Amino acid sequence: MRAAILDAIGSALSVQNIDIEGPRAGEALIRVKACGVCHSDYSCMHGILKAPVPSVLGHEMAGIVEAVGPGVENVKKGDHVVAGPSPHCGVCEFCVESKPYLCTQMAPMFINATMLDGTSRLSRRGEIVYQLCGIAGFAEQAVVPAGALVKVDPGVPLEAVCVLGCGIMTGVGAVMNTAKVERGTTVAVLGCGGVGLAVIQAARIAGARQIIAVDPVASRRALAVRLGATDEVDPSGGDVVKLVKKLSGGGVHYGFECIGRTDTIAQVFNMVRPSGTAVAVGAPKITDEVGIRASGFLQDKSLKGSLYGASSPRRDIPRMIEWYRSGDLRLDEIVTHQIPLADINEAFTLMTSGGGARAVVMMG
Ligand SMILES: [Zn+2]
Ligand SMILES: [Zn+2]
Repeated sequence: MRAAILDAIGSALSVQNIDIEGPRAGEALIRVKACGVCHSDYSCMHGILKAPVPSVLGHEMAGIVEAVGPGVENVKKGDHVVAGPSPHCGVCEFCVESKPYLCTQMAPMFINATMLDGTSRLSRRGEIVYQLCGIAGFAEQAVVPAGALVKVDPGVPLEAVCVLGCGIMTGVGAVMNTAKVERGTTVAVLGCGGVGLAVIQAARIAGARQIIAVDPVASRRALAVRLGATDEVDPSGGDVVKLVKKLSGGGVHYGFECIGRTDTIAQVFNMVRPSGTAVAVGAPKITDEVGIRASGFLQDKSLKGSLYGASSPRRDIPRMIEWYRSGDLRLDEIVTHQIPLADINEAFTLMTSGGGARAVVMMG
């Protein structure tokens, strides 16, 4: 089967024929239909996040189940599924606390880029090919832990809902699960890519009365306004903290940093009002340190992290699909480009040029 291979850090992906094994116990073989291109894929390609090579990236995958291994009960052959890279064991201390996104058993998927048992189902001429996040969705087929799959109605377009698996979940969950944004409040969002636009939509759904979109790219700000932002700020136009404080009358109730930069994490903490909550959603470099004004804590401000939207995919993906169907969560505008697997590198060019909110790779 064809897959987009990362052969060296810093290089482009190349589409090649590789081998795939059938599913083992607790796993499912998927005919991939669509896979969203997430910023963390870019970070893996460029050494910002660790990735072994050769490997197949892509974790916002949606497709149709072709076969399941022994013991799989949540999906069966023919089911339409969305993958969330959070298969969770159900028994570790975090799973018991309903925090599956922190499950201690998922480490092999993220650290070693293998399945949960430490091996890969992918190979090339007998040599191992790693599966990033245990998913490896930039391919015609994928074997994934069945626990990572959420069954969806066959009438739902997979090229739209694939992005629910990571980027949209991260943004929507940051609003609904981490910050728990309340009706009538004010919100600022730094960075209006796929995640930031999901934050904006979730804030609208939660009933925020003011949503300030901050992004240097005019087309992204325009899209943010179409999706629910009430105000827009170009950060290149001056002191962004001052601008947001002025627009909100002294600071926002909730601020969301969706870029992953230390200076913008500090800004988002500074722009929330006393007692406000700043949420760091973007993924910074592992060695980064943030400098914030400690006096903010004397104003009862909070700075919170949010991993994967503090989400529970089997609870949150069906809920987001209902919002998609009712027109409240608009995905068709967020998925601005559909790109065939053969042209996958174009998706990263678009991402770095600010040319599109989210690209989805189509397997045909
Ligand atoms: Zn992602
Ligand atoms: Zn667990």
